[in-house]
Amino acid sequence: MAEWRKRRMSVRTGEHARASTLPVLALRDIVVFPHMIAPLFVGREKSVAALEAAMRGDRRILLLAQRKPDVDDPTREDLYEVGTIGHIVQLLRLPDDTIKVLVEGELRARVLHLREEEGMLVADWVPLHDEPHDERELAAAARALVARFEEYVKLNKKVPPEAVASVTALDDPAKIVDTVAMHMGLSVADRQELLETPSLLARIEKLYAHLEREMELLEIDQRIRARVKQQMEKSQREYYLTEQMKAIQKELGEADFEAELDELAKKIAAAGMPKQVREKAEAELRRLRQMQPMSPEATVARTYLEWLIEVPWKKRTRISRDLARAERILNAEHYGLAKVKERILEHLAVMRLVRKMKGPILCFVGPPGVGKTSLARSIAKATNRRFVRISLGGVRDEAEIRGHRRTYIGALPGKIIQAMRRAGVKNPLMLLDEIDKLGMDFRGDPASALLEVLDPEQNHAFNDHYLDVDYDLSEVMFITTANTMNIPPPLLDRMEVIRIPGYTEHEKLEIARRHLIPKEMKAHGLKKGQLTIAEDAILEIIRRYTREAGVRNLDREIARICRKFARKLVAGELTPPVTIQREDLREWLGAPRYRYGEAEAEDQVGVVTGLAWTETGGELLQIEAAVMPGKGRLAITGHVGDVMQESAQAAFTYVRARAENLGLAPDFYQKIDVHVHVPEGAIPKDGPSAGIAMATAIASALTKIPVRREVCMTGEITLHGKVLPVGGLKEKLLAAQRGGLKIVLVPEENMPEIEEFEPEVRAGLEIRPVKHMDEVLPQALVRMPASEEQKDAASRAAV
Ligand code: ADP
Repeated sequence: MAEWRKRRMSVRTGEHARASTLPVLALRDIVVFPHMIAPLFVGREKSVAALEAAMRGDRRILLLAQRKPDVDDPTREDLYEVGTIGHIVQLLRLPDDTIKVLVEGELRARVLHLREEEGMLVADWVPLHDEPHDERELAAAARALVARFEEYVKLNKKVPPEAVASVTALDDPAKIVDTVAMHMGLSVADRQELLETPSLLARIEKLYAHLEREMELLEIDQRIRARVKQQMEKSQREYYLTEQMKAIQKELGEADFEAELDELAKKIAAAGMPKQVREKAEAELRRLRQMQPMSPEATVARTYLEWLIEVPWKKRTRISRDLARAERILNAEHYGLAKVKERILEHLAVMRLVRKMKGPILCFVGPPGVGKTSLARSIAKATNRRFVRISLGGVRDEAEIRGHRRTYIGALPGKIIQAMRRAGVKNPLMLLDEIDKLGMDFRGDPASALLEVLDPEQNHAFNDHYLDVDYDLSEVMFITTANTMNIPPPLLDRMEVIRIPGYTEHEKLEIARRHLIPKEMKAHGLKKGQLTIAEDAILEIIRRYTREAGVRNLDREIARICRKFARKLVAGELTPPVTIQREDLREWLGAPRYRYGEAEAEDQVGVVTGLAWTETGGELLQIEAAVMPGKGRLAITGHVGDVMQESAQAAFTYVRARAENLGLAPDFYQKIDVHVHVPEGAIPKDGPSAGIAMATAIASALTKIPVRREVCMTGEITLHGKVLPVGGLKEKLLAAQRGGLKIVLVPEENMPEIEEFEPEVRAGLEIRPVKHMDEVLPQALVRMPASEEQKDAASRAAV
């Protein structure tokens, strides 16, 4: 049995013991608990007498707290009735006649009678017993108390951490309570109340409540401290930083601001500005002088002045007007494009004659990668102009062209002036890229701003909102590019369109051999002769690794090979010279991405190859038709635009009108629906040029006669089956070549145009003009259906 339980039982058995008598020590400001050793300083006469009496006896004394600490000579009323019996452990007389005494609390006692005897207080007392409790409940409550106490000690810096160890080492709830009570900073009244509480469980609970309250206070205290600390830190930091900033500004400001202003003044003088501009710049500089050097408004003024200074006002390059040289450069840098080059040279010749930029502006129209940009670069080189490029794709806001007024925060000049600053001279060649991609919305019309830029009557005094002075663009040579002819008409009016439709296979091969491969080898640090790409390998790249009108992806694939080659060379994995053959391509570029020359494996019913024009060049367009039971309706799917839908309707009407010739019953359509589908639905398609292809697909589906797979076609159809001319033929023919088709049906009215094309564009293609649908079907279908009449004749003959 634990020692404390034995003791509690002995206390209980002593319940009816007679009262004993002991000398009393009155304590001013302390309550001593049992299980606690307390040092006391004793000076009062009666107290000294009581101690001496105790020492003569069994060293025991009754410790009673005073209700009021300042009473010097307490009587019965001034003392609490419950106290602790203490055992004197040690007694020490100090030189000033006071005594230091160490007492250990033993048990709680109630005073029955208190009197003064022989110059001291003595009391009759009985022990105060704990009420009986369930042991388990007590143990649990004590555990909770200890846990809480541990937390309390963590928060309260005044209680030494050893206190926790001394408490957790105990297992007697009574001792635990007394020890915890001792460590807590309770008032005398609170301690006394604890001492007097007869139930141990109630004492634990009271103490627990004290702990809770204390902790709450501690937490509040901590929060307040933290906040105060934070505020202190923040304001100190701010103070520190502002002081530092002031110091920096002072340093920079006074000495450097003067120097900076002088520098600006010099630059303004040297910039060669027109008078009006110079006056404006000088006025701005005067304003800047008045400002705080580091203020936001000074920054705005400074940026503005920098722009005025940096935009070229008088610097030019010397323009070369040597046409022979221009021709040499154009030829050296670009393969083929004979007509394009001719037009360019004509343009340069005219400019040389008029000596002014009055003529129309060149506009290169064509799919990506056909060399529009690089032609413009060559022209810049040939005429000795600096080259700058502006992309107009997605420009919707007039301010992007013309700039924002300076009153806007973060305002800047528009793209034109920015490009001029980049050029650094008054007479560069400025390429305006993707002019067909200009947008327009509520923020104004960028096209009209551009019109002013391109108009020689106006552009000597171009007004950028930011610069806010006239700027002379009349010496700039503008060239524009576009993928489509979808150019705002007023702009188109100013331009001379040169179309670059795309390259034939042969041209691509030559471009790769003469230009792309040497260029990429050089760019990758490879020496001449180290790497050769065999001709059939180049062709394979053109056919099966790229599918494009231009040569951009071809260029990219060649760059990939060069990159890989360079890496292997450095790693010592190969020894030049190396020739890459067609069979090696998988190793260098992976699996081919496109099929080639396999347009359709076999002749199919209801499937026709049409030709489409897109922004990226010509494309093969598959058109499918199917027949189902129904009520004579036509459905068309595949992300198809309005014009193409109408065209499908016209095709269907034509076929219906020709039912008899196609061997179909006159009312065949009453029991069927026709479905026309243009696959690759993600690409929007529109335009009338698939008309004859759709009519052919419908006719094939209805008659169940397959379409010849080597045939493709383009042409608009009327209700009566007439074939009308269409656009983009060069691109379409190139696509047919790329796709490995043999026969192309084209509208007869397009023939004069086709005859003008370079022979390469037509190479390998049999081009057959058609005027009417009636000529299309016999050439497209594997055989012609027997008409109703013929069928009749045949059945009569059989009879
Ligand atoms: P675009 O501006 O039409 O999109 P790029 O001018 O960017 O095309 O041309 C893509 C690449 O192809 C460039 O490296 C260019 O030099 C090259 N290229 C295009 N056409 C030719 C050509 N006829 N001769 C030589 N290189 C060409």
